[in-house]
Amino acid sequence: MVDLPVRCPICGREMEKGKLEAFTASGSIIQGVSVNWITPKKRWSSENLGIGYFAVHFEGVRCQFCNIIIFRYRKRRKAPLTVEAMYERLVEMYNRSYGRGKHLVDRKIERYIREGLTREEAIKKLAKEDGLLD
Ligand SMILES: [Zn+2]
Repeated sequence: MVDLPVRCPICGREMEKGKLEAFTASGSIIQGVSVNWITPKKRWSSENLGIGYFAVHFEGVRCQFCNIIIFRYRKRRKAPLTVEAMYERLVEMYNRSYGRGKHLVDRKIERYIREGLTREEAIKKLAKEDGLLD
């Protein structure tokens, strides 16, 4: 795992170590909030970072001059992927590599369906081909 930077990558000042904690007004830790990473480019999907719940304390480093905090996260891959989750991941992967991910993924799926596979089988096959199931 990568170490968080000691110095701010923007201004070079020393980063302040800390933790992000989320509490409700009553003081109990918020449960059941999924944590997603959303960018303007991904209109149909957001990427769940696998952080799970705000019941965790996020370790991070802050630069008070640039107003940035850098957190570490780790993706959880315990639960087997559902077919729809595979589809979402494929779209994200293709978006990152080529753009227009949904269009490309849908076209590949349609091709497999024409060859006789069901949509589910087509997504699984594509996920396997693209190394998503390793
Ligand atoms: Zn800075």
